[in-house]
Amino acid sequence: MRSCDAAREAVNKTQELKFKRRRIMDNRAKPSQDDTRDIARLSSFCVFERLRSAGLRPTRQRVALCNLIFGAGDRHLSAEELHEEAHRAGEPVSLATVYNTLHQFTDAGLVRPLSAEGQRTYFDTNTSDHFHFFVESDNTMIDIPDGMVSVTNIPEPPEGMEIVNIDVVVRVRRKRDKSKLA
Ligand SMILES: [Zn+2]
Repeated sequence: MRSCDAAREAVNKTQELKFKRRRIMDNRAKPSQDDTRDIARLSSFCVFERLRSAGLRPTRQRVALCNLIFGAGDRHLSAEELHEEAHRAGEPVSLATVYNTLHQFTDAGLVRPLSAEGQRTYFDTNTSDHFHFFVESDNTMIDIPDGMVSVTNIPEPPEGMEIVNIDVVVRVRRKRDKSKLA
Protein backbone atom coordinates (compact mmCIF):
# COMPACT_ATOMS: atom_id res chain seq x y z
CA MET A 1 0.00 0.00 0.00
CA ARG A 2 2.76 2.38 1.02
CA SER A 3 4.77 1.72 -2.14
CA CYS A 4 1.63 2.36 -4.22
CA ASP A 5 1.16 5.71 -2.53
CA ALA A 6 4.83 6.51 -3.05
CA ALA A 7 4.56 5.62 -6.73
CA ARG A 8 1.44 7.73 -7.11
CA GLU A 9 3.15 10.60 -5.37
CA ALA A 10 6.18 10.26 -7.67
CA VAL A 11 3.92 10.35 -10.74
CA ASN A 12 2.07 13.40 -9.42
CA LYS A 13 5.37 15.11 -8.65
CA THR A 14 6.66 14.36 -12.18
CA GLN A 15 3.50 15.75 -13.75
CA GLU A 16 3.64 18.80 -11.55
CA LEU A 17 7.29 19.33 -12.57
CA LYS A 18 6.51 18.86 -16.26
CA PHE A 19 3.75 21.44 -15.94
CA LYS A 20 6.07 23.79 -14.05
CA ARG A 21 8.82 23.30 -16.66
CA ARG A 22 6.35 24.17 -19.43
CA ARG A 23 5.38 27.39 -17.61
CA ILE A 24 9.02 28.35 -17.08
CA MET A 25 9.88 27.66 -20.71
CA ASP A 26 6.97 29.77 -21.87
CA ASN A 27 8.34 32.53 -19.64
CA ARG A 28 5.17 32.50 -17.58
CA ALA A 29 6.95 31.61 -14.33
CA LYS A 30 10.32 32.30 -12.74
CA PRO A 31 12.07 29.15 -11.46
CA SER A 32 13.20 28.96 -7.84
CA GLN A 33 16.52 27.25 -7.07
CA ASP A 34 14.67 24.11 -5.98
CA ASP A 35 12.65 24.10 -9.19
CA THR A 36 15.83 24.31 -11.26
CA ARG A 37 17.35 21.36 -9.40
CA ASP A 38 14.20 19.23 -9.60
CA ILE A 39 13.71 20.01 -13.25
CA ALA A 40 17.33 19.09 -14.06
CA ARG A 41 16.73 15.76 -12.29
CA LEU A 42 13.50 15.23 -14.18
CA SER A 43 15.27 16.00 -17.47
CA SER A 44 18.04 13.45 -16.96
CA PHE A 45 15.46 10.81 -15.98
CA CYS A 46 13.44 11.67 -19.08
CA VAL A 47 16.47 11.23 -21.34
CA PHE A 48 16.93 7.59 -20.34
CA GLU A 49 13.20 6.99 -20.59
CA ARG A 50 13.06 8.69 -23.98
CA LEU A 51 15.98 6.73 -25.46
CA ARG A 52 14.78 3.40 -24.11
CA SER A 53 11.21 3.88 -25.28
CA ALA A 54 12.56 4.78 -28.73
CA GLY A 55 14.45 1.46 -28.75
CA LEU A 56 17.87 3.15 -28.55
CA ARG A 57 20.51 1.95 -26.11
CA PRO A 58 21.35 4.86 -23.81
CA THR A 59 25.07 5.07 -24.60
CA ARG A 60 27.03 7.87 -22.96
CA GLN A 61 27.20 9.88 -26.20
CA ARG A 62 23.50 9.46 -26.97
CA VAL A 63 22.59 10.53 -23.44
CA ALA A 64 24.85 13.57 -23.65
CA LEU A 65 23.46 14.65 -27.04
CA CYS A 66 19.89 13.88 -25.98
CA ASN A 67 20.38 16.03 -22.87
CA LEU A 68 21.64 18.92 -24.99
CA ILE A 69 18.86 18.59 -27.56
CA PHE A 70 15.94 18.25 -25.16
CA GLY A 71 17.30 20.00 -22.09
CA ALA A 72 16.17 23.43 -23.24
CA GLY A 73 12.59 22.74 -24.27
CA ASP A 74 11.18 22.70 -27.79
CA ARG A 75 13.58 24.15 -30.31
CA HIS A 76 15.07 23.92 -33.77
CA LEU A 77 18.73 23.25 -34.26
CA SER A 78 21.16 22.15 -36.93
CA ALA A 79 23.77 19.40 -36.59
CA GLU A 80 26.45 22.12 -36.71
CA GLU A 81 24.86 24.00 -33.80
CA LEU A 82 24.52 20.82 -31.75
CA HIS A 83 28.15 19.97 -32.53
CA GLU A 84 29.26 23.37 -31.22
CA GLU A 85 27.10 23.02 -28.11
CA ALA A 86 28.55 19.58 -27.42
CA HIS A 87 32.09 20.95 -27.59
CA ARG A 88 31.21 23.86 -25.34
CA ALA A 89 29.74 21.34 -22.86
CA GLY A 90 33.03 19.37 -22.96
CA GLU A 91 31.62 16.50 -25.02
CA PRO A 92 34.20 15.65 -27.71
CA VAL A 93 32.01 14.29 -30.51
CA SER A 94 32.71 14.54 -34.22
CA LEU A 95 30.27 16.25 -36.57
CA ALA A 96 29.73 12.87 -38.27
CA THR A 97 28.64 11.33 -34.94
CA VAL A 98 26.26 14.24 -34.35
CA TYR A 99 24.75 13.68 -37.82
CA ASN A 100 24.43 9.92 -37.25
CA THR A 101 22.82 10.45 -33.87
CA LEU A 102 20.36 13.01 -35.23
CA HIS A 103 19.40 10.59 -38.01
CA GLN A 104 18.92 7.77 -35.46
CA PHE A 105 16.76 10.12 -33.39
CA THR A 106 14.80 11.00 -36.53
CA ASP A 107 14.22 7.31 -37.35
CA ALA A 108 13.12 6.75 -33.75
CA GLY A 109 10.65 9.65 -34.03
CA LEU A 110 12.37 11.75 -31.35
CA VAL A 111 13.09 14.69 -33.66
CA ARG A 112 11.77 15.77 -37.01
CA PRO A 113 14.02 17.08 -39.80
CA LEU A 114 12.93 20.34 -41.43
CA SER A 115 13.53 21.46 -44.99
CA ALA A 116 17.18 22.04 -45.63
CA GLU A 117 18.12 25.70 -45.58
CA GLY A 118 21.14 26.10 -47.84
CA GLN A 119 23.71 23.64 -46.51
CA ARG A 120 21.92 23.00 -43.25
CA THR A 121 19.15 20.70 -42.16
CA TYR A 122 17.33 21.80 -39.04
CA PHE A 123 15.93 19.33 -36.53
CA ASP A 124 12.82 20.08 -34.52
CA THR A 125 12.28 18.61 -31.05
CA ASN A 126 8.56 19.19 -31.53
CA THR A 127 7.51 16.35 -33.82
CA SER A 128 3.87 17.40 -34.10
CA ASP A 129 2.60 18.87 -37.40
CA HIS A 130 3.40 22.58 -37.53
CA PHE A 131 4.96 25.11 -39.89
CA HIS A 132 7.82 27.59 -39.64
CA PHE A 133 9.13 31.06 -40.29
CA PHE A 134 12.78 31.07 -41.33
CA VAL A 135 14.51 34.29 -40.27
CA GLU A 136 17.13 34.82 -42.97
CA SER A 137 19.43 37.20 -41.11
CA ASP A 138 19.58 35.01 -37.99
CA ASN A 139 19.41 31.54 -39.57
CA THR A 140 16.70 30.61 -37.10
CA MET A 141 13.35 28.84 -37.34
CA ILE A 142 10.29 30.05 -35.44
CA ASP A 143 7.05 28.08 -35.11
CA ILE A 144 4.06 29.55 -36.90
CA PRO A 145 1.13 29.50 -34.45
CA ASP A 146 -1.46 26.78 -35.08
CA GLY A 147 -4.24 27.64 -37.47
CA MET A 148 -2.40 30.45 -39.31
CA VAL A 149 -1.61 28.37 -42.40
CA SER A 150 -3.98 26.08 -44.20
CA VAL A 151 -2.75 23.66 -46.81
CA THR A 152 -5.25 22.55 -49.41
CA ASN A 153 -5.15 20.60 -52.67
CA ILE A 154 -2.49 18.21 -51.49
CA PRO A 155 -1.40 16.18 -54.52
CA GLU A 156 -1.69 12.41 -54.70
CA PRO A 157 1.79 11.04 -54.03
CA PRO A 158 3.50 9.30 -56.97
CA GLU A 159 2.66 5.63 -57.53
CA GLY A 160 3.81 3.42 -54.65
CA MET A 161 4.68 6.36 -52.37
CA GLU A 162 3.11 7.90 -49.30
CA ILE A 163 3.30 11.41 -47.83
CA VAL A 164 5.48 11.57 -44.72
CA ASN A 165 4.69 15.15 -43.77
CA ILE A 166 4.24 18.58 -45.31
CA ASP A 167 6.62 21.43 -44.52
CA VAL A 168 5.74 25.06 -45.04
CA VAL A 169 8.63 27.47 -44.51
CA VAL A 170 7.89 31.19 -44.75
CA ARG A 171 11.14 33.10 -45.18
CA VAL A 172 11.23 36.44 -43.36
CA ARG A 173 13.76 39.19 -42.70
CA ARG A 174 13.84 42.24 -40.50
CA LYS A 175 12.32 45.34 -42.06
CA ARG A 176 14.97 47.83 -43.12
CA ASP A 177 14.96 51.01 -41.09
CA LYS A 178 14.43 53.57 -43.89
CA SER A 179 15.44 56.52 -41.70
CA LYS A 180 18.94 55.08 -41.48
CA LEU A 181 19.31 54.74 -45.27
CA ALA A 182 19.00 58.47 -45.96
ZN1 LIG B 1 9.00 23.85 -34.91
